[in-house]
Order: sequence, then C-alpha cells, then structure tokens
Amino acid sequence: MVMKTKRIYETDGSVFQFDAEVVGCAAVRGGYALAFDQTAFFPGGGGQSPDAGTVDGEPVIEVYEKDGVVYHVTAQPRAVGATVCGAVDAVLRFRRMQQHSGEHLLSGAAHSEYGCENVGFHMSEDCVTVDFDRPLTAAQIERIERKANEAVYANVPIRCEFPNPEELAGLTYRSKLDLTENVRLVVIEGYDVCACCAPHVRRTGEIGLIKVLSFINYKGGVRLTVKSGSDALTDYAAKCVRTNELIAMLCAKEEKIVESVRHMQEETERLRHALIQAQRSRVAAMVEAVEPTPGSALVFCDDLTPDTLRFAVNEGVARVGGLFAAFTPAESGYRYCMGSKSVDLAGFAKAFHAALGGRGGGKANMIQGSVPADRASIEAYIMNNNR
Ligand SMILES: [Zn+2]
Repeated sequence: MVMKTKRIYETDGSVFQFDAEVVGCAAVRGGYALAFDQTAFFPGGGGQSPDAGTVDGEPVIEVYEKDGVVYHVTAQPRAVGATVCGAVDAVLRFRRMQQHSGEHLLSGAAHSEYGCENVGFHMSEDCVTVDFDRPLTAAQIERIERKANEAVYANVPIRCEFPNPEELAGLTYRSKLDLTENVRLVVIEGYDVCACCAPHVRRTGEIGLIKVLSFINYKGGVRLTVKSGSDALTDYAAKCVRTNELIAMLCAKEEKIVESVRHMQEETERLRHALIQAQRSRVAAMVEAVEPTPGSALVFCDDLTPDTLRFAVNEGVARVGGLFAAFTPAESGYRYCMGSKSVDLAGFAKAFHAALGGRGGGKANMIQGSVPADRASIEAYIMNNNR
C-alpha cells in the first residue's frame, strides 16, 4: 500500500519545482508509474487537465490519481527511496490557473449578482465554457464581467481551506457536489468561496484579465465562452491584427468598420439587383427573337445567374410551346435550365445527361443542371431528340 501523496499544489499553486522521495514504482503500460511522498503535479479534475512536466529531466507521460496517490508515468523506473526532482510545465499550468481562477471570479459574480448556479464547466486548451442555470442578458453578462475584473484589480489573496464537517456546516460556499468530508474550499477574500480541487493563482491580480467572448442560450440557462490571463491577451492580439487588416481594407476608422461593411452589403445587394434586371432585359430580348415551335428552342447567353436562367425558361416556355432551354457557360461546358409544358423532362433530362455526361434535377416541367459538352453537341442532341 503506497502512502497518500502530499499535494503541494493544494496549498500553493506557485510551486513548480520540487524534490521528492520515491515511495512506489510499478510497471504500467507505456512505462512506470511513480509515486512520491509529495508532488506539485496536479493529476487533473474539476474540469482542469493534468499537468505536464518532467521528473529528473525525463518527460512525464501521464499524471493521474488513484486512492489518494498521485502517479507520474515515465519511461524509466526509479528505485524506491531515491530522491527525484520534479518540474511542472509552469507556463502551461499558470495559463490554466489564470483560466480557472478567472472562472471562479466570474461564476462568483454571477452567483452574487443574479443567483446563478454554475452547472457546467469545461476547460479546453485556450478557453473555458461556463454554464449557468438561468438565462442572462448581454447587459447582465457585461455587469458580471465588470465585477469579476474589479476583483482582479483589487488583487486580493486566493487561499485554500480544509474545514472539518462542523466548520463546513456553518459556511456558505458554492459547490457542484453535496460533499461533507475532505472538502477543499478556494477562498477569494471578499468575492467568492467555492469547493474545488484544482490549483489556483496566489492573488487575483495574477489573472490579469477576464473576458467573456460570447454567450448562447443553453438548456434553459446560458453558456459563456471565456478567456482569462495570457490566453485573453493572445486572443486580443489576434483580434487587433484582424481588425487592423479590416481597417486597411475598408479605409475606415475602427469604430466605423461595421457600418462600412453594412454599406458594402447594401451596395452589393443593389448591384446584384441591377445586374439581374439587366440580364433579364437581355434574355427577354433573346427570347422575343425565338420563333414559336412545337419542337425545341435553345438560347445561349454569357454570364447568366441561376435566377436569370430560370427567368429565361419561364419566358421561353410561354412563347415557344415546346421545349425551351437556356445555357450559360460554366467552368467546363454549360449550366442550363430547361422547361416545357408538353415534354416530360424527367425522362428527357435523364437521357440528355447520360448522352453528354451531365447532371441535374428538378421537376417534370423544369430541370436545372450542367453539361460538360460543347454547344454544337448540345444543340445536335436536343434537336435530334426533340425536333
Ligand atoms: Zn474550480
């Protein structure tokens, strides 16, 4: 039976290097599971991933906890009784602590301001999602974000307490589980008390910044996507690069870029409408020149949109009486639309596609598709098969 591990991170999240005595070493898949008398490696839990790092310079492949013992898997074994030097990946761990401590402040503010319970928490590599049990408006979320950041500016200590069951009964704290024993409380003085097993930064100022990126309605409540600390800064830097690119492209001041894009959208819509009108006039003139026929009539016209192709066919079918088809050049061959009141186009189009390698679909009186064939082949096929 290996002795339970003293967990340095439980009381001090700022220790990344430590010496320890090996108290257990067992062969496992992929290497050896080492147990120490003490460790700064967090084995994961409460939504936060296990730490990475090294033991005597050798990478730790995996960290996990079982029956109160933290195991560190390395490729090489160690002798029981030997002293090792552990080093947690401090950059990664600090980023995760910033995210996690930031989440505590935000959830604490949501609780104190609006009575929200945190019913879900997930940390991915560069952000967290937090679920609250009731809906919040954008203004309310902005308010809790502001409150949480005020706690960062106040730079108050974050400490951990292990109250006994009697002490615990007299305390008010946030918790997802109804535990009474071995409860570790993360206390952010004056702001929040929450049951949690993970390492945290020493003072709120170390979080740096807490930013809610977005929120969605979720299971009757709300889900926030949040970045804190250095991940928030990285995100801010990337957003500045993108914003500056837009500013340069639009030749607009930053506060005008949304308005500028909206104008562009309106202008694009106006031009699209004008183009369609111009195409329709052009096509209508072409259709006007086609002689009525009980057989087939075709028009070929450059640069037609799917909308104008359909317009041409509707006009054409009304005029010619038989089959009417309109074609416009595509990447290879032509895009087309054909219509008829007298020919069953489902069967006709199937044979047409089979003969010329085309594809498409629609209804018995109107088919749209494409054919990778030249104009002469298309004309020949349709004239020979529906004269
Ligand atoms: Zn926590």
